[in-house]
Amino acid sequence: MFGQEQGCVFCRIVRGEAEASLVHEDDLVTAFLDINPGTPGHVLVVPRRHVAGLGELEDAEAARLMLVGRSVLGALRGGAVRCEGVNLFLADGEAAGQEVGHAHLHVFPRFAGDGFALHGDWTRFPPRAELDALAARLRAALG
Ligand code: 5GP
Ligand code: ZN
Repeated sequence: MFGQEQGCVFCRIVRGEAEASLVHEDDLVTAFLDINPGTPGHVLVVPRRHVAGLGELEDAEAARLMLVGRSVLGALRGGAVRCEGVNLFLADGEAAGQEVGHAHLHVFPRFAGDGFALHGDWTRFPPRAELDALAARLRAALG
């Protein structure tokens, strides 16, 4: 079943039981190169603790995930690889394209003509009233 700890490849990498090209390790997160990179230098930052979704992370884990993501961004921008920009990407849930059920932040370098694209229907500009109504629902949900 999706998101199960048993047999999780990222848990095996965190424990050092599966091969990975590590770029960072600390008490809360591990970062390693993606086995099937979108661009050269594509890094995954994962919490050491197995959780499927971002919402299940403790605040300290979520904060470290982003802080290490930012550090990796700095390393990529610093000339480690060809890098004219960086994307951070996190797929939360299978419907969002999450394939590995252990939360992870993608950090990958971008450059002109790298062939990377995110497809979506971004043709619509909803009326302000519709945006305001949706924002109100989200504010209520945020509490
Ligand atoms: P998702 O689609 O879940 O956001 O991304 C999963 C990512 O994990 C993919 O980019 C895929 O290439 C990467 N991946 C899957 N299995 C392994 C593995 O065993 N080792 C490494 N380093 N990356 C993996
Ligand atoms: Zn796991």
